[in-house]
Amino acid sequence: MTGNAQWKERGDNVFIETYNRYPVAMVKGQGCRLWDADGKEYIDFLSGIAVCSLGHSHPVVTEAVCQQAATLMHVSNLFYTIPQTELAELLTKNSFADRVFMANSGAEANEAAIKLARIHGGAGRYEVISLSGSFHGRTLATVAATGQAKFHEGFEPLPQGFVHAEFGDVASLEAMINDHTCAILCEPLQGESGVRPLEKKYLQVIRQLCDKYGILLIFDEVQTGMGRTGTLFAYEQSGVVPDIMTVAKARFNGLPMGAMLTRDEIARSLGVGTHASTFGGNPVAAAAAVATMKLMLEKDFLGNVRKQGEYLVRKLEEVAARYPELATGVRGKGLLLGLVLTEKGRASGMDIVARLVEQGVLINFAGNRVLRFIPPLTVSDEEIDYMVDKLGTVLDSF
Ligand code: PLP
Repeated sequence: MTGNAQWKERGDNVFIETYNRYPVAMVKGQGCRLWDADGKEYIDFLSGIAVCSLGHSHPVVTEAVCQQAATLMHVSNLFYTIPQTELAELLTKNSFADRVFMANSGAEANEAAIKLARIHGGAGRYEVISLSGSFHGRTLATVAATGQAKFHEGFEPLPQGFVHAEFGDVASLEAMINDHTCAILCEPLQGESGVRPLEKKYLQVIRQLCDKYGILLIFDEVQTGMGRTGTLFAYEQSGVVPDIMTVAKARFNGLPMGAMLTRDEIARSLGVGTHASTFGGNPVAAAAAVATMKLMLEKDFLGNVRKQGEYLVRKLEEVAARYPELATGVRGKGLLLGLVLTEKGRASGMDIVARLVEQGVLINFAGNRVLRFIPPLTVSDEEIDYMVDKLGTVLDSF
C-alpha cells in the first residue's frame, strides 16, 4: 500500500466526497517542489491554494513549529500565550488595526467580522452587502455572504441579512444601503471567481459610501493578504483603509489559522463572552505565523514578490500572445495572477490544469475560464521559466 493508486483507493473508501481530487497522494514538499507517493516530482504554482507562501517546509518555520510543539501545544484562550501575543503585536504593528481576534480559518475570520459588524451596528442593523462573484467561505453565514449562487444551492434557507451588489456597479451598491445595513464586505481582488481586481477608484467609492452612511467596510484579505499581491496587505495599494480586515491562508505557511483585525473603537463592541474559539490562536500555529511574518517583513521580501510578479506577468503575456485562440490576457497583482482564457476556446481551465498535473506542474483554475497562478512568493526566474515551458507544451496539445 504505497503508491498514488493505493492511497486513492483507501481515501475513496472513507472520505465524504466533497472534493474533486487529482489521483495523486502528496507525500513531501520542499520550496516550490512537491513529490507524490509514486516518487513523481511537481513544480508548485498553487501553494496549497495561496497558503505555503515561503515554500514547502521552510526550515525557519519548521524549526519554530517543532520548538513550540515541544514546549506548549495548547492551553485554550483562558490564558495568554507568548506566540499568540507576539503574533497579534506583529499584525497590529504592520497594519491599520489595533486589535486582533484569532480564528482557525478564513471562513471563521469572516464569521467573526460579520458578528462584529452586526453587534457594532446595534439593534436592527444586521445586513451585510457583498459583491457578485465574491467568495467568503463555506460556513453558512459566509456562504450566504458569498455572491455566487452555485455555493448556495441545496443549503437554503440561508441565514438572513446578506445581499449582493453587482460587481463594479456603484449605483447597485448604493441602492442596497438602507437602515438595516451594517457593513460592506469585499475582497480587494476576487481570487476564486477569476482573479478579478477591484479598481482603485471603485474601492475608494465604496469607502466613501461607508463613511456617508455610517457603515463598516470589511476587507476579506484571506487570499490577498500577507504579501501575495506585493504589499503586506492588498489594501495598502488602494489608498483605502478598511474598518475590519480578515486574513488566513499565507500567514502561517501551512498551519491552519485565521484572524480578524480592527480598530480599538470598533473592537470594543465585542465584549467578554460575545465570541470565542477553542483552538483560535493555537500556540503552534501562532509560532509558525510569527516566524512566517518575520521573514516576510525582512528587507527585500515584498520587493522581490513584486519583481517576480512582473516577470511572471511578462511570461504569461507572451503565452497569451502565442496562443490567441486560447488565451486573451493576464490580470491580477503581485503573485496572484490569472491567464484569461477565450470564452469559446477549445480548452477549459479544468482540461488545461489536468494536463499540467500530468506534466508535473500544479496550478488551478478560477471561474473555469481563468488559469490561476499562485506560486510560493519565493519562486525563482528559473522555476517560472520551467512552468511556462510546460504550459506551452500543454497548450500545444489542444
Ligand atoms: N475568503 C477568501 C477570499 C478566500 O479565498 C477563502 C478561501 O479560498 C476564504 C475566505 C475561506 O477560507 P478558508 O477556506 O480558510 O475557510
